[in-house]
This record gives sequence, structure tokens and C-alpha cells, in this order.
Amino acid sequence: MTATSQAALRGGPGRGSPSPFQPFDIGHATHIAVVEPETAFWGVVRKDRLTETLAGGELLDTYFAKAEAFRREMDLLRFHLKPSAVYFNPTERCNLNCSYCYIPESMRRNGQHMDKATVLDALDRLHTYFRGHMPEERLPQVIFHGAEPLLTREAIFAGIEAYGDRFRFGVQTNATLLDDAAVAFLTARGVGIGLSLDGPVADISDRTRRRWNGGGVFDHVVRAIDRLDGYPGYNVICTMTTQNLPHLSEMVDFLHDRRVPACMLNVTRCTLPGARDGRGDDGAVAAAYIAALEQTHRLYRETGRKLVVANFANILIAILAPTARRLMCDISPCGGGRSFFALAPNGDLFPCSEFIGLPAFNGGNLFRQPVQEILESPPFRLVSGRKVEDVAGCDSCVIRHFCGSPCPAEAHEMNGGMEQKGAFCHFYEEQVRYALRLIADGRHEDFLWDGWDEGTEIACAIGAL
Ligand code: SF4
Ligand code: SF4
Repeated sequence: MTATSQAALRGGPGRGSPSPFQPFDIGHATHIAVVEPETAFWGVVRKDRLTETLAGGELLDTYFAKAEAFRREMDLLRFHLKPSAVYFNPTERCNLNCSYCYIPESMRRNGQHMDKATVLDALDRLHTYFRGHMPEERLPQVIFHGAEPLLTREAIFAGIEAYGDRFRFGVQTNATLLDDAAVAFLTARGVGIGLSLDGPVADISDRTRRRWNGGGVFDHVVRAIDRLDGYPGYNVICTMTTQNLPHLSEMVDFLHDRRVPACMLNVTRCTLPGARDGRGDDGAVAAAYIAALEQTHRLYRETGRKLVVANFANILIAILAPTARRLMCDISPCGGGRSFFALAPNGDLFPCSEFIGLPAFNGGNLFRQPVQEILESPPFRLVSGRKVEDVAGCDSCVIRHFCGSPCPAEAHEMNGGMEQKGAFCHFYEEQVRYALRLIADGRHEDFLWDGWDEGTEIACAIGAL
């Protein structure tokens, strides 16, 4: 059994000061976590050695030696990133009416489309903006997002064709329009593809994801998954609701059986009232989620093939090597308006797609203003300035830098302000507990992409404590 200690940022008191660590019960038979919350420096130690560990020794010595370097690293990650990606919404319309969608129904029924010329104009402006601060060898990312971006297929495919050497492209789609020709076009160009599916059979998936007339789309999505068989650059998003929680482990069986390389098991974003109805109780969501993660582990042990649950892998990485994380909801401030932003079809920019239905968070227009000016607008500042230290109840949370207190859109719309929590606090706690239990048992690598740490500097790794 190994225990690992990995540090992040703020320095603590000097030698001779009281221990800076706080115990954090991870629900493990023999081990407990100790965390220095300001720096997110942590260790997993034997419970019967907790007192002596906190009194001094290798963990404390490492903390005092490395804290300053980790402070700088985390400060960079939290406060000095520049955007490197855009969620590009070429249409407000969608051919589906999913129960938890964050885009208002009127927009999805009657909203605007971008035409081809507008998509190309937007990509040109975005390219100019990103080139101003990103090195030549690093391509910015454009993720066509929705509503349903493939409703504007001709326009976005023209954009991918014209700008394929200047951006890394991705498409997040409901998969209903992902036919043979679309799959051939996207996979030939290495475009990342995200699909949505909420259950292993039509009866479950179609409860939340359906057409305006109530008809289901399960069969369409499964056909798209089959078309993508063997393509490494796709994943399936499953949104956890009361409708599918009892079937989450069957869902990972289904995805693994179809050789899906990665999935996300996401909580419902509760920004709009409609999404809150089926959100599920935190404890029930956590139990079903952890059971499904355990099922991915059993499948890996049986077959040697991983189904990576990307959002959970990101939490593990946030603990092991904070700057290597790939998703930006669990860092504070979150990535919205900071490491990426969202573009609406009329050119308006929002900190994140989650805000697209909320006019108060419109920061300005790509076709009329410089992007940098929009990033500094009051609506963007409101989101990019929301720090976990300022959120009531999160300010004293031991694991605040492994959680990040998502999501500002939920906090503002559901709970009345940026200084409030969002939804799912208890779920986030349980998720971090489980991640630390896996680390205590030395099982965590089984949940990560092979080679996840290539190019990542592991700041320190202490043996068993
Ligand atoms: S926490 Fe919310 S606003 Fe921030 S990046 Fe995630 S979804 Fe967007
Ligand atoms: S939301 Fe909950 S788990 Fe996350 S930082 Fe706040 S108190 Fe901690």
C-alpha cells in the first residue's frame, strides 16, 4: 500500500509552528487524509500514526520545503491564465427538448442560426485574438456547442475545412444528425466528438432526452456510437438524474461493451428551474456514481480495457497534479470567462455556455468589440472573480481547492448570488473522499488515461506514511 503526498500552492508557517494540516476523514478503514487547505498540499496517512505525522517528519518537511513553489504554481493556475478555448454556439435552435437543458425553450424553438460567412468571420476574429497571446505551436480550441450545432452543419464544416490548421476542433452534439457522411468528415479531420446519452436502453434514456413531439432518440445515438467504433477522439456524456440513477452501473456496462473510450457522468447543472426537478438527492447521486465508478474498475480488471470517466479522472488529477487538469469546473475561479468563453450565434460573448440564456451575463459582441475588452466587462468579472474563499461555507472547507465550489451560474440563479454555493456540495465532498480512498489503496491509476502524467511534473511523492 502506498500513500502519496502532493502539494499545490500557498506556503504555511515556518518550522516550529503548529502543524498546518487538518485531518479529513475519507471513510477508509486504516487511512485518513491530512490537508493544508490554503495550499491544497495533502497526504494520506495511517490513522494510528496521525498524531506523530502531524507532530513532524517527512510530510511536514516536504510541505515546508515545497510550499512556496506550489503557491506560485497554483497562483498561476487560478489567477493568471488567458483563454485558450471557445465554446462556439452557431445556433440557438435544437431539434430536441431535453428536460434539463440550460437554454430557454423559446431560444431552442425559434432562435438564430449563423450562416457560413458569419462562422468564417467569427473564426477569423477568434484566430486573431488567440494568436495575440498563444504560442504558435499551441493551437487554440474551438468546440461547436449548442443547442444542436449540427443544425448548421454546412457552415461549421466549412469552418473546420478552412481553419483546420489553426484550431483544434470539437463538436458536442445530441448525435441525431451524426450520419455516415458527418462521421467520415469529422473523424478524417481528427475532430473531437462528444455525444449525449442518458441510459443503456431507450426506456431510460428517452425519459430525459427526447424530441419536441416526445419521441425518443436512443436508437439514433446508438447508431452514431456504432459508427464511431474505433475512433479514439470521442466520448459520451451521461447526465445523472433521478430517472437514470438506479441504472448508472448498467450504463457503464453498456458503454464499455460498445468500446466507448471515455464518458462523463455529470450532475445536472441547476441553473434553470426546469433542470432542478430531476436533479436527485446528493447522497443518492454520490452512491450511484461511486458504484458506477467501481463497475468501470471491475470491467477494466476483467478485460484490460478502460472506460475512463473523464470528469472523475479530472478530480483525481486535480489532487495529484493540479496544473494537469483538463476540465475547469473544479478549480476556483472556474474556467468560465478565464480559460475559455462562449460565443452566441449573434456574436455575443458569455463567460460559459451555462450563461447563454441569461442576458445579464452578456459581456459584449465579438463583431463589434475586442475580446480583451469583453473579458474585462462587469459580467465577465462577476464570474471570473468568484473565488471559493468568498463563498459562504466553502471558505473554511478543507477540500475547497479540489472542489472549486461549482457552479457560479447555479449559485447566482438558484441560490441568489456569487457568494453562495451552487448545487451538490455533499456530492463533491463524497467524490473527493472516494478519490482519496483510491489513492490510499493505490488503485487510482486504474481510473486515469494511460500516460495521463506524460509531460506533467509530479511535485513530490512520499512513500507510505
Ligand atoms: S463551473 Fe459552471 S460556469 Fe464554470 S466552467 Fe463549469 S459550467 Fe461553466
Ligand atoms: S461546495 Fe462543498 S465541498 Fe465544495 S468547496 Fe464548497 S463546502 Fe467544500
